[in-house]
Amino acid sequence: MEKKSKFKFETSAIRTQMERSSFSEHSAPLHLTSSFVFEDAEEMRASFAEEKERNIYSRFSNPNTSEFIQKVTQMEEAEDGVAFASGMGAVFASFATFLNTGDHVLSARAVFGSTHALFTKYLPKWGIDTTYFAVDAIDSLENLIQPNTKCIYVESPTNPGVDILDLEALGKFAKKHQILFIVDNCFATPYLQQPIRFGADLVIHSATKLMDGQGRVLGGITVGKRELIRELYLFARNTGASLSPFNAWVLSKSLETLAVRVDRHCDSALIIAEKLEKHPQVNWVKYPFLPSHPQHALALKQMKKGGNIISFEVKGGLDSGRKFINKIQLCSLSANLGDSRSIITHPSSTTHSKLSETEQLEVGITPGMIRLSVGLEHNEDIWNDLNKALHA
Ligand SMILES: *Cc1c(COP(=O)(O)O)cnc(C)c1O
Repeated sequence: MEKKSKFKFETSAIRTQMERSSFSEHSAPLHLTSSFVFEDAEEMRASFAEEKERNIYSRFSNPNTSEFIQKVTQMEEAEDGVAFASGMGAVFASFATFLNTGDHVLSARAVFGSTHALFTKYLPKWGIDTTYFAVDAIDSLENLIQPNTKCIYVESPTNPGVDILDLEALGKFAKKHQILFIVDNCFATPYLQQPIRFGADLVIHSATKLMDGQGRVLGGITVGKRELIRELYLFARNTGASLSPFNAWVLSKSLETLAVRVDRHCDSALIIAEKLEKHPQVNWVKYPFLPSHPQHALALKQMKKGGNIISFEVKGGLDSGRKFINKIQLCSLSANLGDSRSIITHPSSTTHSKLSETEQLEVGITPGMIRLSVGLEHNEDIWNDLNKALHA
């Protein structure tokens, strides 16, 4: 798979493309087929024996999926990758492939809701325990590590608190203890941050978010070291959470515009975060590139820009938060993020409602907190919508 691109990020996102067919198509065509044909018995035998690299069945590989994987692999400066039907398919596969009964996981407390469910509800069924640490308590890791600790798992920025974890420190810690370092890089995208540079062994994405960027398809991908990816590939191929060729085709096209989209998302988010911070109806704003963010210096060090997610609290707690949301007209009330449309959610009563109030506070969610995914509409229109709702 690995083909080190000689081009810069933006160029390889556009110019990495599967081979042209006899039709000489310019734009990559969609290969909507479940299987591929063989000339004779010998070709079929050799293909199954992996003596030659070719497509057999689309649960194993498909030209559209391979193109998508190759692009993300280059963008993350990884060696290889595996695509999945969704981000959670990728997260689960990484645990199921590399963890055994009796293993232990160290994870930052603030993780995506379904990832939290894997740690607390499903992994314990197979005798795998998780210890959570606070995002700013990396110094405590030496006390939390156990002889059976197999991996350390984090997201940065976190969802929805947009906290930043020190990837370099975590990478060094993982290396020292010879454990796997897995990073969910969904909020940053490889355009803003490449965790492999800081020692990550596996980097996971929900491609559903900024990679698609237009709220159309679900997808997931994991990239990393070749030997690990080989194991993960065999798990994916045998258990079936493969990405569909159609979704891979959509995602591969989307990556061509990732850099320009993410640039605009981030520029608008910073403008809006600054305005929110000055607004009299707002208690606090958290955005990685605002100097008021608790890990601002770290964000500047490891990210190119601040991302498109802002969290903030409206004065007056839960009631005001809900009133504010009901007055919003342009931004959508929806569960997605990283879409071209700006999206507002109230984490406490929706995405994180399964957590107790104490657990919510541990991951930085207050009752009145709002999560805003800044879209690609003009930032003045987004701001006017928020401002009107804040004054109402
Ligand atoms: C959405 C999300 C996921 C899950 O991705 P799906 O594609 O919805 O399965 C995982 N991690 C983070 C940080 C996410 O935002």
